[in-house]
Amino acid sequence: MPELPEVETIRRQLAPEVRGLRILDAEVLDERLTRPEPPSRVERGIVGREIEDVDRRGKYLLLRLEGGATMALHLRMTGNVLLRRPADEGDVADLMETDPRLGGPRLYESSSDLRHLRFRADLDDGTELLFTDVRRFGTAVLLPDRAALDEYLAPRVGIEPLSAELTPAALGRMAAGRTTPLKSFLLTQTGVAGIGNIYADEALHRAELHPLSPAGSMKPEHCEALVEGIVDALETGLAEGGASIDDYRDARGERGSMQDEFLVHTREGLPCPRCASRGERGGEAPKIERIVVGGRSTYFCPHCQVKLRRRPRRRKRAGGRWKATA
Ligand SMILES: [Zn+2]
Repeated sequence: MPELPEVETIRRQLAPEVRGLRILDAEVLDERLTRPEPPSRVERGIVGREIEDVDRRGKYLLLRLEGGATMALHLRMTGNVLLRRPADEGDVADLMETDPRLGGPRLYESSSDLRHLRFRADLDDGTELLFTDVRRFGTAVLLPDRAALDEYLAPRVGIEPLSAELTPAALGRMAAGRTTPLKSFLLTQTGVAGIGNIYADEALHRAELHPLSPAGSMKPEHCEALVEGIVDALETGLAEGGASIDDYRDARGERGSMQDEFLVHTREGLPCPRCASRGERGGEAPKIERIVVGGRSTYFCPHCQVKLRRRPRRRKRAGGRWKATA
């Protein structure tokens, strides 16, 4: 599932390519994509408009359209946004019949397969903007103006982790009093936006925090370490063009290389890189373990990632004496 670095990689590729281009025609091929809006209404709402820019909030790609409207795309599990150049051979209808893959000689996997095309738009320089999605959880929502966009995002997207909003103090406030395991806390999009299963594991390893530590048990120094861990994990992902462990491809249909940089994610049974570099246990470094937290596979080092204790609750004073709690 694409997370912030994958979506941001797509955005950075897409924006300079489509900025200033006008949508001449658009077709929603799967009514589930725009549900509950009927496809025809979304098509009518975007055709004729210029794409002014491509932004991102959390895992949402935002196509800013002339006149103030925004099309908010979410790739969910297997969504892909692709550009098809006028120079690419054949048209979509031909390609769909013969089942070749996008991007000429490159070999792509199923998600950029045109059988899974859910949306396409013709732009005025001949480029086609395509959205493919094998599992069909992706969404495209047309929001008529800024207020509608804000209203849509408010209950779905929290703090941007690569902005000045993410401070140790802000993280501490969000975590205060919460018994949720840190892993689940990081996956909550209304807290820190854009972090998914990969980057949560990678951030917690960098912060030397155990994924099952209760979020509210973090002290200021842990919040500081976690902010650094989040930023470093996401920036590493961005520098690698995202991670391709399942269906993720960038806007050019290419794989990222973050999967080669994982410290813990999917590395069950391999030595912990930090403990190995510290020469822990006489060169026989502890191995990465896999557990399931909130239904998600979670990878961590049981040696260097500290499990924080739940902080004791403040007890209420009653009559000048500590009242016993059950
Ligand atoms: Zn370790």
